Amino acid sequence: MTTRSPYAMLSVEDALDVTLEQAHTLAPVLLPLSHARGAILAAYIAAEEPLPPFPASTKDGYAVVAADGPGDYPLIGEVSAGALAEFSVERGTVAYITTGAPLPNGADAVVMIEDTERLEADPNAPQIRIKQKVHAGDDVRPVGVDVKEGQTVLDAGERLDPAEIGLLATAGYVHVPVYPRPKVAVLSTGDELIEPGEPLGPGQIRDSNRAMLLAAITAVGAEPVDLGISGDTQEALESRVQQGLDQADILLTSGGVSMGDLDLVKPLLEHAGTVHYGRVRMKPGKPVTFATADVEQGRRLVFGLPGNPVSSLVTFYLFVVPALRKMAGWQDPRLRRVKARLAQPLPLDAYRPEYHRATLSWDADQACFVAASTGIQASSRLLSMRTANALLALPQREGTLAAGEPVDALLIGEL
Ligand code: AMP
Ligand code: MG
Repeated sequence: MTTRSPYAMLSVEDALDVTLEQAHTLAPVLLPLSHARGAILAAYIAAEEPLPPFPASTKDGYAVVAADGPGDYPLIGEVSAGALAEFSVERGTVAYITTGAPLPNGADAVVMIEDTERLEADPNAPQIRIKQKVHAGDDVRPVGVDVKEGQTVLDAGERLDPAEIGLLATAGYVHVPVYPRPKVAVLSTGDELIEPGEPLGPGQIRDSNRAMLLAAITAVGAEPVDLGISGDTQEALESRVQQGLDQADILLTSGGVSMGDLDLVKPLLEHAGTVHYGRVRMKPGKPVTFATADVEQGRRLVFGLPGNPVSSLVTFYLFVVPALRKMAGWQDPRLRRVKARLAQPLPLDAYRPEYHRATLSWDADQACFVAASTGIQASSRLLSMRTANALLALPQREGTLAAGEPVDALLIGEL
């Protein structure tokens, strides 16, 4: 066993650059619209038809010839949304119309129902009293006013959220060209690990990382693949890693990347592919390891995440999330960064930049985000990630940051 790591210590920024250089955008696929939310569009979308495709009433009321003005007029018919009038509205007549219905020929405006009165003197020939003067075009949406024919409604590279899905539906898309969600496999390593449902034997702990990482993968819109737990033997690890490389675009292992005898992941990745880094100057997460491996299906990314649950999740956010976003077609795959003021003083680390877990909230009085620490920051203490929606990027230096100091906060959850 060597006592010094053979790996150069990279800064977080350099390690992220290396990671993003290696992460390749996946080839686009066609997905049904109902499965496309959250995906990145791989082509621009133009509307082939105008919206509305016909002049449409914006009110329930009466279709009129505006020039007629207020007065009593015979009702000559009705037209409701989804149907075309089989009559024309000649001068001196009106027709009942509902919101979204096509304006009948001849009519050029709509008078809303509130500005009219139905006169029933002769039930066979109802008259409508128009009480309000309107102008041509009033309460009518002309053809193409919302979307013009041929107009680009979405650009390649846009993320499909509900409004974008609605635009695609409007444009008649049933399948959409998008970048696929990367498949991310998760393998826990360690002889001490048991499944959460099992009673603890001597020396054992429950595997928290796998459930946590699988949940995190789903939460960021990727597709999780569960590879279970591997014991700390070369053979067991090798076969699971191979399985991961076969099945997923990205493989995450947790544990086995420190400097102990049974830390088998790094040598295994050296064998299976190319290790790009094996140490990063950061706290927590220093032993995080990143490799690529070329298999029949293409290039795979492998992250050897540290075993301590906090290190594992922090390095997932800092390196895996940007990588999988890039693979999923994001144009700016990095974590979003905001400034926040510290709610309390925080000690700094003289040797490593620290990613301090914090809960950000908006302070309306100060008009800024305020970051409250989640408490003791041990890398084994998953309670320090509880309720955290940000990682505070604390500078490496001696001393303390005072309460109220501004810090960079990387967003890992909703604000
Ligand atoms: P390792 O990186 O394998 O040396 O593990 C570092 C620490 O994290 C040890 O205390 C392990 O028991 C713990 N650990 C490793 N994997 C897991 C896991 N999947 N769930 C919970 N704790 C773990
Ligand atoms: Mg271990």
